[in-house]
Amino acid sequence: MKNEKAMVRYDYSDRVVIVTGGGSGIGLGICQAFAESNATVICVDIDQPDSTELPDQVVFYHCDVSDQEQCSSTVRKVIDRFGRIDALINNAGIQPADSYHPIDELPENVFDRMVGINFRGYHLMARNVIPQMKQQQRGVICNIASGQAHRTARHVGVYGPIKAANIMQAKQWAVEYARMGIRVVSVSPGAIDTPMVRASLEAQGGGEALANRHPVGRIGRVDEVANAVMWLCSDSASFVTGADLEVDGGLGAFGAFAD
Ligand code: NAD
Repeated sequence: MKNEKAMVRYDYSDRVVIVTGGGSGIGLGICQAFAESNATVICVDIDQPDSTELPDQVVFYHCDVSDQEQCSSTVRKVIDRFGRIDALINNAGIQPADSYHPIDELPENVFDRMVGINFRGYHLMARNVIPQMKQQQRGVICNIASGQAHRTARHVGVYGPIKAANIMQAKQWAVEYARMGIRVVSVSPGAIDTPMVRASLEAQGGGEALANRHPVGRIGRVDEVANAVMWLCSDSASFVTGADLEVDGGLGAFGAFAD
């Protein structure tokens, strides 16, 4: 398999897309992909992104997605300025180094932060955009979950279950809003080369073993996740809702003789 960037061109002209956690890693890759497809892209992040990486046309709104007031006022600003919301990519998430503990040793404040951002944040952004999507009778929500939603790993006893919940949120919302023109999907990436993964690799000492666990023999790139999101949010995926797509170099299919 070639390890090089490939991209199908979508036309997202006149479409308004919100990407949470769009200032770094996978979210940044998704912002770049939508911007290249002429979407109006709103990057929502708690940190001001590096301006050299975010395309000029992407609009940045500061927002802590774990806070209802901030989510509500951010969505209101988007509607007031752009008049519609076609897609929400729920991506802002954390897996801090101090979360890698068996649950009886995990500090409560780390648990609360992870639930607040990775679970409540997805819920809050969705509940704030849905009234607008209902009014439009159109919209797509895409939750970025994780391969760790599907299978266990050492010391991810909070992160993994929350990511599984992100998939179940998508299925619940998909069924609830299907007759209102709203599709809801999730994507479960394998290990992707982002600051989050680099930090956890440093904590665990090297990436070769992690790369080898993926049958393709490498970890993924952000554009490979972005490509899946672009398709799922497009009209080409009009009959796809409630589905989870594993974008993981075969990790989910890994078996006894995968190496
Ligand atoms: P990252 O750390 O590179 O980026 C996360 C972004 O979220 C940052 O810009 C950060 O500022 C923002 N953010 C954090 N807390 C926030 C908050 N309260 N409000 C708004 N923004 C906030 O991480 P990443 O690796 O790109 O991960 C993105 C998503 O993909 C996460 O949901 C993660 O769980 C998921 N994921 C990542 C991988 C991987 O291998 N990188 C694999 C599977 C799933």
